[in-house]
Amino acid sequence: MQGLMMDYELNVPAILRRADELYGDREIVSRLPDKSFHRASYAEVISRTKRLAVALRRLGLDDGDRVGTFMWNHHEHFEVYIGAPAGGFVTHTLNLRLHPDDNAYIATHAADRVLVVDKTLWPLAEQFVGRCAFEHVIAVGAGPTPDGALDYEELLAAADEGAFAYRNLDERSAAAMCYTSGTTGRPKGVLYSHRAIAIHALTVGPGIGLTTSDTVLPVVPMFHANAWCFPFSCAIVGAKQVFPGPHLDPVSLLEDFEQERVTVSAGVPTIWMGVLQALDANPGGWDLSPMRMMTVGGAAPPRAMIEAFGERHGLRVAHGWGMTEMSPVGTLSGLEEQEIGLETDEIYARRALQGPPIPFVEIRARGGEGLVPWDGATMGELEVRGPSVASAYYESPEADDRWTDDGWFKTGDIVTIRPDGYVEIQDRDKDLVKSGGEWISSVALENALMGHPAVAEAAVIAVPDAKWSERPLAVVVLAEGQSATPDELREHLEPHFAKWWLPERFEFVDEIPKTAVGKFRKTALREQFAAS
Ligand code: AMP
Repeated sequence: MQGLMMDYELNVPAILRRADELYGDREIVSRLPDKSFHRASYAEVISRTKRLAVALRRLGLDDGDRVGTFMWNHHEHFEVYIGAPAGGFVTHTLNLRLHPDDNAYIATHAADRVLVVDKTLWPLAEQFVGRCAFEHVIAVGAGPTPDGALDYEELLAAADEGAFAYRNLDERSAAAMCYTSGTTGRPKGVLYSHRAIAIHALTVGPGIGLTTSDTVLPVVPMFHANAWCFPFSCAIVGAKQVFPGPHLDPVSLLEDFEQERVTVSAGVPTIWMGVLQALDANPGGWDLSPMRMMTVGGAAPPRAMIEAFGERHGLRVAHGWGMTEMSPVGTLSGLEEQEIGLETDEIYARRALQGPPIPFVEIRARGGEGLVPWDGATMGELEVRGPSVASAYYESPEADDRWTDDGWFKTGDIVTIRPDGYVEIQDRDKDLVKSGGEWISSVALENALMGHPAVAEAAVIAVPDAKWSERPLAVVVLAEGQSATPDELREHLEPHFAKWWLPERFEFVDEIPKTAVGKFRKTALREQFAAS
C-alpha cells in the first residue's frame, strides 16, 4: 500500500524560499580584504542571489551546467553557492590552495562553463584560467576587473529579479560539486544532489541545535567538503552568518567572534590550535561568552586541545568526522545531550572520539575476516551508506572499487566502533603503521604527543624497518620557547601505550607540511624521512 503524501521535491530552491519568506531581517556579515565589515540582510543577499540565477541563464547556461567558484568565504560566495543551484545550475567550488595544474585539471574535468573569482585572487586564478574552457569569467569585489572578465556587480545590476521563479527541480538532480583532495591518483569529483543537501542540512544543522538565534562563523572554506553544509543549514533555520573573508589568523577570528557575538564556529584542528595559543597568550582578552560550540573536524583533534579549551577557557569543542563524499558529516561527538550525567574525564574522552553516526548515516567496519564486532577494540575499515553519501565519482569509473558489491562506500579510514556506536578513527588505511604484523595507530600517538606541554604539533609516520617491516617515526614541532628530548617524549607516552608502539625515532622540525585543506601532509613527511 502506498502512502498518501505529496511528492514534494527536497531541493535548494525550497531552502532558499524558506529563508526568503521567513528570515529576511537576519544578517549576513562579511570581513572585507581591508578588514572592515560588510553587513547585509538575508533579504538583500537573497535578492542578489535571485538576480545571479537570472544573469547566469542570460549568459547562456542550461540546467546542470557547472559554475566554478574561486573565492574566500563571504556573502558573494554564499550568493553563488545557493544561487547557482536555485537557478538549476551546479556550483563547483575550486580550492584556492591547490596547485594551478590541479585546478586546471579539475575545472576541465568538471567542464565548468563559468568561473566566479575574487579580484584579489586573480593573480592565482590567472595561472590556470587560460588552460580551461570557461566561457565567462565573473570578477567579484572592489578594484579593477581583469581584461575579458565581467564585473559581478554590473552583472547583478543588469538582471531582473522579477524574472526569477522558484522551480520545482528534481531532487535527484545535481546541485553542487566538490573534488576530493586526491592524495592518491587524480582528484575525484563528488556530485551532490539537491536531495542529499536538503537532508544533510536538516540532519546536521538542527542536529547541533542550530536555530534562528544562532550566529555562525564557518572558518571552514566553502571549497572544503561542502563547507560542512553550514551555508545550507544556516539558511534553513535563518541563522545569522559571519564570513571571515581572507582573514583566517587567530586574532582576526577572535575579533570576529567577539564583535559579532558568534555562537557556533567550525574549522580544522590547525585553526583551533592557533586560536588556543592566542587565547592562552591573552586569557580573557576577548569576550567569547556567547560561543556555545566550536566544531572541529577534517582531521583528528588532540584531546589535549579539546580539554584546554574546556578547562582553561570554558569553551565547548564538538567534534565531527566526515568526508567530501559524505556531504560531508558522518559522526558527531561533544553534543550536550551526549554528556548528561558523565564525569569530566569521560566527557573529554568522548569528545576526542569521532562519535556516533548522525541520522541516516549507517556504519559498519570490515577487517580481514569480514565485519568486525562493535567492541571498541577490533579494527576494521569503516564503510558507510546513506542518502547524503556518494554512490560514484563523477566520470571516474576506475574508482568504482571504492564501493562494496552491496553498495556501501569504503571510507579508507581504519576504526574501532564501541558498543554504543561511538566511532574512533585509528588511522587512514595508508597511514597505519604495520609493525611486526600488528597495527599501530599514528593518530593515537600524535594526539598523546600533542598532549605534552612542550609539543605544538606532532605527526607520526611509518618508516621501513628490516625486522618489523615498519616502525613509527614521530615528527615534532616544539612550542615556542620549549624544549623536550626524545627520551622525555617517550616517557610521556609510556603509560598509555604498549612498549612496541613507542617510536624509537623523533625528528624535530620547524613546521609540518599541510595539505590544501590544512591536514598534515604525511606523503611529504614520508618522502623526507622514510629513506634517511
Ligand atoms: P576530506 O574529504 O578532505 O575532508 O577528507 C576526509 C578524511 O579526513 C577522512 O576520511 C578522515 O581520514 C579524515 N578526517 C575527517 N574528519 C576527521 C576526524 N574528526 N578525525 C580523524 N580524521 C578525520
